[in-house]
Amino acid sequence: METVTCPVCGGEQPALARYPGYLCRECAGRASTRDGRRLTLVNTSLAGGFAARYADSGELAEEETLTHLVYVDGIRCRADEARLGGIVVQPAPEGDLPDGGNGGQPR
Ligand SMILES: [Zn+2]
Repeated sequence: METVTCPVCGGEQPALARYPGYLCRECAGRASTRDGRRLTLVNTSLAGGFAARYADSGELAEEETLTHLVYVDGIRCRADEARLGGIVVQPAPEGDLPDGGNGGQPR
């Protein structure tokens, strides 16, 4: 089986054609807001969907649910529903806007 390494911890995991460089389950489980508040990443229904909740209060983390941007060990990542259910988290470097990327106006 082909494997890739987790970009955060370097652990080996199965390669997924659709998600090159995805975070392993353990690292994805450490997803936090920009200011370090722990998040729980969930599907909103059995059919998928994505939502981020604060791990401590269970409240919806509106900003992260909208932007899909989370931080793992200080690394900016994009979280989304996986094609076959569950959540997949991948690094999202600054400047690489995940959504509405056409709006990048030079200044
Ligand atoms: Zn990892």
